Amino acid sequence: MFRPSTRHNIPSSSSNPALEVKVNKRQSGVGSGSGPSGRYPYRLNFYERPPTLDITLEEFETFAIARLRVLSQIEALSHRSLPFAQLQSAITNYTKQHLLLSSNTARNVNLDEERRRDEIGHWVLRLSFCRSPDLRARFIRSEIALFRNRFETDDINERAQFLRSLEFDWQLVDEGEKSRYEKELRACMWEKKDDAFRAESWFKVPWFTVPDLVGSRRVFIRAGMAHVPQSLQISLVLQAFASRLEKALELTAKNLPRLDEDDRLGPVIDHLASSFLSGVASSDYQSPDSTTAQGIVTAEMVDDVARKHFPPCMRNLYGRLKGDHHLKHFGRLQLGLFLKGIGLPLDEAVVFWRRMYGSTMSDDKFNKEYKYNIRHSYGQEGKRSNYPPKSCQQILTQNQPGTQDAHGCPFRHFSPDNLSSFLTMTYPQIDKSSSEMRDILDSVKSTHYHVACTRVFELTHGIKKGEGLGDNESVAHPNKWTDRSRELEREVLEKIKSKEDDDTMMVDP
Ligand code: SF4
Repeated sequence: MFRPSTRHNIPSSSSNPALEVKVNKRQSGVGSGSGPSGRYPYRLNFYERPPTLDITLEEFETFAIARLRVLSQIEALSHRSLPFAQLQSAITNYTKQHLLLSSNTARNVNLDEERRRDEIGHWVLRLSFCRSPDLRARFIRSEIALFRNRFETDDINERAQFLRSLEFDWQLVDEGEKSRYEKELRACMWEKKDDAFRAESWFKVPWFTVPDLVGSRRVFIRAGMAHVPQSLQISLVLQAFASRLEKALELTAKNLPRLDEDDRLGPVIDHLASSFLSGVASSDYQSPDSTTAQGIVTAEMVDDVARKHFPPCMRNLYGRLKGDHHLKHFGRLQLGLFLKGIGLPLDEAVVFWRRMYGSTMSDDKFNKEYKYNIRHSYGQEGKRSNYPPKSCQQILTQNQPGTQDAHGCPFRHFSPDNLSSFLTMTYPQIDKSSSEMRDILDSVKSTHYHVACTRVFELTHGIKKGEGLGDNESVAHPNKWTDRSRELEREVLEKIKSKEDDDTMMVDP
């Protein structure tokens, strides 16, 4: 199924449609002109032809991660009960940034390259998501939502050409049949005017291929065939997309063991699936220039910033540190890197940790055993690597905490009872028996930890449900929570100040 190779230009010999990508060490690229090539004539894609082109190992991973981010964001958005229009616009905005796919009419764009990235990302993710029925279902749901968004935002002519290329065997309902069953067909239409009925055309498909339309009684069924109006064509297309993808994933799963032959790709593929489960979207964190964006945080300020701006995982760690004057290794690492990310400089970090350990530790022990580690995490010792703060995905999936540990994510690592007690104690805005708490616990139960965390952010910052960190973004990094929270506070303070200035001007003679 998947035959990675470091050789160039090896012809494909496999007839397996699952995937055949030859992984090359060299950099590869397809097409540099602005028009689409014969391989990618349309923006939309049913991904039926496996790519048989050369790709580098780096592309294999980066294209898959780019798509994974989008799918993960779509999954998070769809669990946040947004109105349909808001959901679609959030998906459109997000894909524009992370997986842009332009129409043929777009100018100054390398269409082939965009479509190639899109295609390879999709096929690599099939390898990651074919492994279990649950993963397959989640992948298909997110892929359908992505396809639907692209379908609805596509150029009308291009979309029509794409649909013709699929050669669906839908039967057109002829005028005779249309007038014979006019009453039944009209009953399925929202628009009751005569003109609308005359303008509408209908397709016949086996009823079981459009269960959503049958369930919502929007089609007329006769002799086992559902009569679907053109205006509901999208249901037919999505159904076809889903069922073909489902079959392809099952086929890929059967062939997957052959991938074990390659020890370079196995870990990448495992990692992709676990990243999806923990919500990889926007997990890259670029620490802002603290001195200009948020200002430096001193050891003195940490307590106040924690109370107002720390996400649950860091509130938990900080609370344990304050209470016990001690944290185990992974807890120190998680909190220490986070503090660095919010703008605590090295000298202030040393002061902070020294104070927190207090009299439980001698100066000598602190200097010998702990100061080195603090300096190390700031890139001042050892390999001098400047370690970034940990993302939610890393916190959720790496170094699982034991019973005595404080690191990890409360949404994933606390029992439901402990979680609801912790949240009500930490954030008085959330009532234990409220419907919001039930929402949060439901998200946790279905393993959408970042959705639960985003809801807590909204509730504790007076933000409308669905808006998340802004522009519908979900929490995928603890530092993003804190940055956004401080930003919101700054905006409020600026508003108050400008109102005070206005009031002063009005009073002044
Ligand atoms: S989802 Fe992320 S930010 Fe929220 S508590 Fe868990 S690890 Fe922390």
